[in-house]
Amino acid sequence: MAIVNVAQAAGGGGAPGVAGIKVRAWARVWQATRPEHSKGLRHGAWYPVVRDERADRVTIQVGEREVDVPRRILEITGSRPSRFTVVHRLGFVPSRGNDRYRLGRHYGVCPKCQWRFGIIGRPVQEKCPKCEFQGDIAWWETV
Ligand SMILES: [Zn+2]
Repeated sequence: MAIVNVAQAAGGGGAPGVAGIKVRAWARVWQATRPEHSKGLRHGAWYPVVRDERADRVTIQVGEREVDVPRRILEITGSRPSRFTVVHRLGFVPSRGNDRYRLGRHYGVCPKCQWRFGIIGRPVQEKCPKCEFQGDIAWWETV
């Protein structure tokens, strides 16, 4: 529900509210963060920052919940990102059948709806298969 609202909150900047929440900034987990430290957050996905008053911790909105996250694992930006993040799976071993979305060695994450999808080749732009958001793929961020 909240994720749908995030997708519907159009426009950049930190000012527009998301389902009545004042969004202060946007945050995602640094790529290099190990899974055991990322608190179940989806790599490559941007989350609204709802509280940012403490030096060491930031509160972000994850679906219906507010989650306190150590600041050191987050990359924070003031305006709403509009580019697809590329997530590289360093330990990826191709396998048959058990990867539900066939994400492969790297995959894209939609900045609007956080949907993950496999990327074939090295396209410059992509269209989200779920919400149809269209934008650049930020290859330069992570390679
Ligand atoms: Zn999307």
